[in-house]
Amino acid sequence: MTRGRRWGAAVLAVAVLTGGCTGDDDGRFRPGAADVGDPYVPGSGNGGYDVGHYALKVRYDPADDRLTGEAVLTATATRALSRFQLDLAGLTVDRVRVDGAPAKHRRDGAELVVTPAHGLPAGQRFSVEVTYGGVPEPLPSAELGDGGFQATGDGAIALGQPESASTWYPVNDHPSDKATYEIEVTVPDGLAALSNGVPRGTASRDGWTTWRWSEASPMASYLSTLVIGNYRVATGTHAGKPMITAVAATLPADGPAAASVARTGEIADFLAGRFGPYPFDAYGGIVVADDRIRYALETQSRPVYGPGFFRGTRPNTEVVAHELAHQWFGDSVSVARWSDLWLNEGFATYAEWLWVEHDGGRAVERAFTDRYAVTDWSKPTVDPGRAAMFGDAVYQRGALAVHALRRAVGDATFFRILRGWLAERRNGTATTADFIGYAERTAGKPLRPLFDAWLIGASPPALP
Ligand SMILES: [Zn+2]
Repeated sequence: MTRGRRWGAAVLAVAVLTGGCTGDDDGRFRPGAADVGDPYVPGSGNGGYDVGHYALKVRYDPADDRLTGEAVLTATATRALSRFQLDLAGLTVDRVRVDGAPAKHRRDGAELVVTPAHGLPAGQRFSVEVTYGGVPEPLPSAELGDGGFQATGDGAIALGQPESASTWYPVNDHPSDKATYEIEVTVPDGLAALSNGVPRGTASRDGWTTWRWSEASPMASYLSTLVIGNYRVATGTHAGKPMITAVAATLPADGPAAASVARTGEIADFLAGRFGPYPFDAYGGIVVADDRIRYALETQSRPVYGPGFFRGTRPNTEVVAHELAHQWFGDSVSVARWSDLWLNEGFATYAEWLWVEHDGGRAVERAFTDRYAVTDWSKPTVDPGRAAMFGDAVYQRGALAVHALRRAVGDATFFRILRGWLAERRNGTATTADFIGYAERTAGKPLRPLFDAWLIGASPPALP
């Protein structure tokens, strides 16, 4: 994300394996946990299962703001479950089926509690069909304005970090459970309905058009998006993959927004030269005109940019470089918990420095020394606290730590670490400790003291 500038302990159980036992070690089915225990997002995500795929069909009518949806989740029980929960904020659930059979369901705040007719044994794959609808409501967020589904004058925008997905579909809403997606969006003829991944065509009937999208690489739920409205949509290819860009029709066709996203392919290629192959099957970008979107977000394969980034007379390619860098750092390799967000933002900020230098602007070394001079070292980069998760310590101090690593190990080893890390962790999740361990193994020397000083030390670190 870029903010607008202007504005249990392991339990050692002695398992007694008995024939026909399908519950936990003691043969019992228990409820799945109501969240994943991430203190940055209490209530988000759920325990006891892992989603592999979401097949979503939603219909949205801007005339009355009503959304109707049908979600089919394919999941695997990670323990014996008597019931489980999904995140779903607002909206009314009409029907839930598990493996095709009616399941009991009730709402508990922003949770949908599902009790299947029979317990689900650990390791069992199962499907959940949820039929739902209503007028979606955004989630309040103090720092960034509302996230989640927001109606606009001509359509809607579903967007937001760390949470947004639960406002438009039932979901295990935490980046630790990534899944593939097929998204079908039906809107009145004439409106665009944009989402993630590869376009699978459109079909019109009775005044409605269905837009189909498919994301075949595992995606964290906060990286899913839906943008509906009047857009100038450009469909092409780049490096053999679909490139879909869209700019709100109310923004000028030849203005800085259009000129900035038009450089998406060039910037992605530059980053691929540093980080390794672009990780997804499609490229793109969407510029919205709604001033409530005061940030840009790295929604998978197709970042969404708020209008505030393009108010100047010249293109803003820094924000494009930032969001595209996240396709590697954040989207392909995702945080397992939000306290490690610098693994996304420190690298995306560093990528801005790399791009600006490449594009003829300030040198990386200069960006580093300028930022070093003004950094508040009392604020930690790792586990900064929920209120500071989008603060300078995560972004700018994080980027300083990345460059400190480069100085400490030299260019060749530094880029070998980045490329190797991204290849090894592709489509997965990771923690700060994972990254430091990988860097140490690749560099062949201890780096923990360096990272401690640059990420969490309370005084200015010595320059490596
Ligand atoms: Zn970012």
